[in-house]
Amino acid sequence: MKRAAEQRILGVHVSIAGGIALSLERARELGCNAMQIFSHNPRGWFVKPFGDEEAAEFRRLREKYEIHAVIHTSYLINLAAKTADLLEKSIALMKAEMDRADALGIEHVILHTGSASGVDPDEARNTALGSLRLLARLGSWKSRILFENTAGERGDITSKMADLGFLLREIGPELAGGVCIDTCHAFSAGYDISTASGIERLIGEIEEHIGIDSVKCVHLNDAKNAAGSGVDRHEHIGMGQIGDEGIGLFLNHPKLRRLPFILETPKKTEDDDPRNLARVRKMFA
Ligand SMILES: [Zn+2]
Ligand SMILES: [Zn+2]
Repeated sequence: MKRAAEQRILGVHVSIAGGIALSLERARELGCNAMQIFSHNPRGWFVKPFGDEEAAEFRRLREKYEIHAVIHTSYLINLAAKTADLLEKSIALMKAEMDRADALGIEHVILHTGSASGVDPDEARNTALGSLRLLARLGSWKSRILFENTAGERGDITSKMADLGFLLREIGPELAGGVCIDTCHAFSAGYDISTASGIERLIGEIEEHIGIDSVKCVHLNDAKNAAGSGVDRHEHIGMGQIGDEGIGLFLNHPKLRRLPFILETPKKTEDDDPRNLARVRKMFA
């Protein structure tokens, strides 16, 4: 049954090149009512705070365009790092991410919590918890962290729904706002969501460990590698191992369809985003 009145929330990760407010123009040009951004150059540790005008311009435009925005934190951040130096830098940068989210009026900051290859995963998870508790002592924010599931690469500590649930329970709602589910990462970590039964298995685990209401965002990516490969390589929508059928079932699932769906699909040409977005829009049922 077609529900014509329902507004689906769809966007892509867009660049902030030339100024943070330009990200909104890029999302709007693509016809999106959602977007994800890095809040700064994701390759640098040093982050200069926003000027008041810069942040105000972003907030004004966002309200005008009515675009749902989330921040993806820098990949440099590793809250389970093995060295004190890297942990300290990661916590400081995480604080900057939260400060920037509040300045921009963005509700959710998406985090790959961390990894530590060669370390016992429970120990690495405890390190990450320690980092998050330290962060909580450095400030309080309106914005909340969403823990993202990861692909199950070496040293990965958040590839299972139980791992995300553990973090949510330990950290609590003052800092943690829920989770972001990445379809490519779930698939790579062994949740075969190319089929209806695989999707039900994933949702069952979400309900058991996290609670469906704590899912606040989806990264909608197809996967280049096989289910359970443990490899984080995104593919264009419908062109990967999850495929049109799995992606379609996932984004129209009654328990998920209310969510913002953000694409992080490859961008090699100008056509890639419009083509992937069009493919998703055609799948909305
Ligand atoms: Zn993602
Ligand atoms: Zn990824």
